[in-house]
Amino acid sequence: MLAYVQIVSVPSADTPGACLMLHFDNRRYLFGRIAEGTQRTMVQRKVSLAKIRDIFLSGAIDWQATGGLLGVFLTLADLKAASAADLEQVNAKLRSRGKQDTKSVPAQLNIHGGKNLVHMLATARRFILRKALPVHPRELRHDPRSDESKAEPDYEDENIRVWSIPVSVTPLKPSASEPHSPKKRKLGPASDAEAESEQDLAEEEADQRIREAVVKDMFCSKWNLDTLREMKLKDVQLPAKIFIRNDQGHIEPYDGPDPSSSSCPDINVLVRLPWPAAKIERLPPTSPAQRSMCYIVKCHPRRGKFNVEAATKLGVVKTDFKRLTMGQSVPGADGTIVTPDMVMGAQIDGRGFAILDIPFPDLIDPLLQRHEWSNPEIMKGIDTMYWILSDDITVSNDDRVQQFMKAHASIKHIILGSAMCPNVPGLESPTSQLIKMNGIDPQRFPLPVFDTKPRSDLDKELEPIAEVGRPGLQYQLAPRATFITDGVVPVMDTKRPIWELMTYAPQALERASAARNAIAAPSFLTEVEKSQHDLPSPETEIVPLGTGSAMPSKYRNVSATLIRVPGWGSYILDCGENTLGQLHRCFGYEGADEVLKDLRAIYISHLHADHHLGTVSVIARWRQLSLPADRKLAIIATPKYQDFVREVQSVQHLSGERLLHVTLRSTSGRPMPGTLTKTSFPDGVDPEALGLPRVEACFVDHCYEATAVVLTFPDTGLKIAYSGDCRPSATFAELGRGAHLLLHECTFEDELGGDALAKKHSTLSEALDVGRQMRARRILLTHFSQRYPKLPVINEAALGTEEEKESRDVDVLFAFDMMRLKLGEFKQAKAFLPALRELLQEGEKQEEEDEE
Ligand SMILES: [Zn+2]
Repeated sequence: MLAYVQIVSVPSADTPGACLMLHFDNRRYLFGRIAEGTQRTMVQRKVSLAKIRDIFLSGAIDWQATGGLLGVFLTLADLKAASAADLEQVNAKLRSRGKQDTKSVPAQLNIHGGKNLVHMLATARRFILRKALPVHPRELRHDPRSDESKAEPDYEDENIRVWSIPVSVTPLKPSASEPHSPKKRKLGPASDAEAESEQDLAEEEADQRIREAVVKDMFCSKWNLDTLREMKLKDVQLPAKIFIRNDQGHIEPYDGPDPSSSSCPDINVLVRLPWPAAKIERLPPTSPAQRSMCYIVKCHPRRGKFNVEAATKLGVVKTDFKRLTMGQSVPGADGTIVTPDMVMGAQIDGRGFAILDIPFPDLIDPLLQRHEWSNPEIMKGIDTMYWILSDDITVSNDDRVQQFMKAHASIKHIILGSAMCPNVPGLESPTSQLIKMNGIDPQRFPLPVFDTKPRSDLDKELEPIAEVGRPGLQYQLAPRATFITDGVVPVMDTKRPIWELMTYAPQALERASAARNAIAAPSFLTEVEKSQHDLPSPETEIVPLGTGSAMPSKYRNVSATLIRVPGWGSYILDCGENTLGQLHRCFGYEGADEVLKDLRAIYISHLHADHHLGTVSVIARWRQLSLPADRKLAIIATPKYQDFVREVQSVQHLSGERLLHVTLRSTSGRPMPGTLTKTSFPDGVDPEALGLPRVEACFVDHCYEATAVVLTFPDTGLKIAYSGDCRPSATFAELGRGAHLLLHECTFEDELGGDALAKKHSTLSEALDVGRQMRARRILLTHFSQRYPKLPVINEAALGTEEEKESRDVDVLFAFDMMRLKLGEFKQAKAFLPALRELLQEGEKQEEEDEE
């Protein structure tokens, strides 16, 4: 049997979390924090999620430790759905041949973690609707070993035994399974402060069952898109999807007067029932838990070696050997009884490791004082301790941690702390890409910010027993305990991309140099000045932070664009997973803080997870910055998303009073694509005084309540239109008429028009056509489904006739992650397109060769 635990991610801008994967032949386990960016790191490391059945979350249940979890679930659910569909195909074939179905693989996921785990998951019910993945959260709300004499694990399966160690500033209640003896109840007043009476306990249990039911429905529901219920129109509760049967008996969407209106006809309609989990308006209350979860994990002990010689000497017949190894006694010579201990070597302890997660300094003492660390029975076989530490905790300046390590000097201490691990580029592919693009056009593609030195050094004295964790480092548990460094990911050689550029793409460099000359020519500058003399705020900077579609991919992160308008502030348009990390890579930790100090609003176009899973951590970072107390951050979104942001605050501090919920509502109760939204600011708010432009939006054809937005800045008239995901929208084109900047999705190239229609996205030409109708001056296309970054070919006809183009001075560019583009410099950027095209074609060729 081969078993090993491998460091998958260490904290860096690419993922603030550290996580480990435990491998057995039959399945995998994840341990640690599943922070934002974890999944993208796995893509880069070629670590597959497919065999994961258990995730053990360490630390506190907050966004910092779990921000990447929902993305992982969605990917797993889609993987399972795909394999279920494959299986169904196989079964259909078998049935057609008159054979029986093959057995289906039970696909389920167990999530283990501390208080608020289920609540945290349930907050996502408005946007997670999957059917294929039964998720079983196992939230540990009590202390499984408040009785110090207990040494049994609280989780066990065929591979491992796990001791969960909840750590809290105040002691926790004993486990529910332990008898509530009066003595235990007197553990201290603080311990039972949260739920003192039997009635409170019963209520807590009932609340938890509601949350569990919600989570069950999110991932595994019998809900069916095709189930329609017939009822009177006047009885329909909005919002709901309403259909009617037309004269031919066909079902079509109903678009008549609302059920609540006086002109509501007395007819029967068909209503699609809402997703069950989405029906729960409000979750039972909870509050952020000041706790952390740590683990001790061990393989099962193995039986000792069977001594053939001794057994033969005792007269055991060969056929009884197996019975002895199975623990049975057998007859020996002269009627004696031979017991297993007479012929078996001593039991071999299972090897294991511990995870000590310290999310904030107050937990250091309670963690180090846990009795498990001094229990020889539990600690037997533990060779490694992984220390997951938050920003403000370093080993070098904490005497308690150092003393603890020295007291456990036979154990290797591996430190996975953001202050201890250098912020090296963890995603080599996009970093390499960006460095090469910097070699072509440094103005538009500044180098990413990274650091190969840790922010804090490890103490010399600890060097023999401690080290800073490196991704890929393996600790093998079986067949024998040893460290394996073969897979350790070397620190990226950031000079190599430049060497590759010079070696493989010299033509790209030649073209870049030609472009540099061209844009420096006085005639070019005069021409630029003339054609865009009326373009307001040319210094406005556009920074695409994520330009991919659906899932974080190798080269493109999920949707997010930062816009920085001089004199106004910064705005984030959609905020996909690890937008904060992309900001950190782009501007550095301190630079990103400066950008965030200017942040005035985050706009979320729709509830697909790839457009908003990064919002919570951006807000969390924003509230930590020293800003005037009256400074507000606007969240511009539909009511469902606002509800999510409000609800997540029961498990994560976000300074809710400083958030300004600018809600985009349907005026009729039905967000029909093509209708305008009503933008409501909280009472008494003057948007302009808060640095907010005029916000206008409309519903677009994509998913329920998807919107597109137009921001107009009153002083200069600067108009920015952003589409999110959608089919082309005439209303949006009208709303954005005369936009100086249009950011439009173009998920598919023109030949995939069918996909665009089916998946409710736009093709390249459709996006350009919206720009033409809008008479947009600068168009930046984003949200690509392609595997490698490339420059698609523009169908010039989609931009309009020659005359039209002549009359409106239009420029089109394609967005890349971490590009920095000024509104007034599209023409300069365009001059480098031939060089970029050359570079990307070369890159694609190399990628294909690598894959072969
Ligand atoms: Zn979408």
